[in-house]
Amino acid sequence: MTPAPPAFLRFETLSKTYDDVHAVRDVSLAIESGEFVALVGASGSGKSTLLKCINRLVEPTFGRVLLDGEDVLAGPAPLIRRRIGYVFQGIGLFPHMSVAQNIALTPRLVGESLTDARIAELLELVELHPAMASRLPAELSGGQRQRVGVARALAGDSHLLLMDEPFGALDPITRGQLGQRVRGLHRELGLTTVMVTHDMAEALLLASRVLVMDGGQIVADETPSALLAGKGGLVAQALVEVPREQARQLAGMGE
Ligand code: ADP
Ligand code: MG
Repeated sequence: MTPAPPAFLRFETLSKTYDDVHAVRDVSLAIESGEFVALVGASGSGKSTLLKCINRLVEPTFGRVLLDGEDVLAGPAPLIRRRIGYVFQGIGLFPHMSVAQNIALTPRLVGESLTDARIAELLELVELHPAMASRLPAELSGGQRQRVGVARALAGDSHLLLMDEPFGALDPITRGQLGQRVRGLHRELGLTTVMVTHDMAEALLLASRVLVMDGGQIVADETPSALLAGKGGLVAQALVEVPREQARQLAGMGE
């Protein structure tokens, strides 16, 4: 019998401790190719730390992360980062570099350059005009900047897209539009996506699977419909209650 193929992404007994803070505690789970996973939890619950263990911005204290069956710590960090798209918390564009230079940055770190045609194609994927390539980040709106952030994450043709609170700084309408665009790209490009957010409504609307973190641990692992049906336990349900309560208040205002 041939062994089952390895999960696309796997955390094995992963822990990260900073001095006396247990940021991530003994996390084991598998993410299959094509999943859109939201990692939700209160501020300080360990979401960013867990995400950064995937692309080696954080080195685990114990355990490991496997990508396509390989330990991400094997080999040089720039090579693994080249294979993983990453959208930073906040915006994280370099202000003195043009849009094109920002997009080309990660491939450049491993000695590859992007053609103007490829930059234009990446801008079109995020619904920006190719003429924006020569602009500086300060010459864009917040939503346009974060679209550039997504284009940059896609520049390496990677199949794994990691996003840390990608829409946190945006107004609600821009946020909704960009969320839908990312959801579309996930499907069209056949990505596996892990998105950190503190917003349960965003997680329920975009993801196919929701992981809830609390105190460094995964305390719920459910589909959006299971969460909406009341599953996942107390911490998860407290997060689901936030948008529900807002919806009730809005409904009440219309009466
Ligand atoms: P989240 O993204 O869910 O807000 P983080 O992963 O950023 O949570 O942080 C989890 C915990 O680890 C918090 O208590 C935070 O203060 C701590 N922490 C994160 N990064 C560092 C660091 N570089 N040094 C020390 N403590 C850190
Ligand atoms: Mg964070």
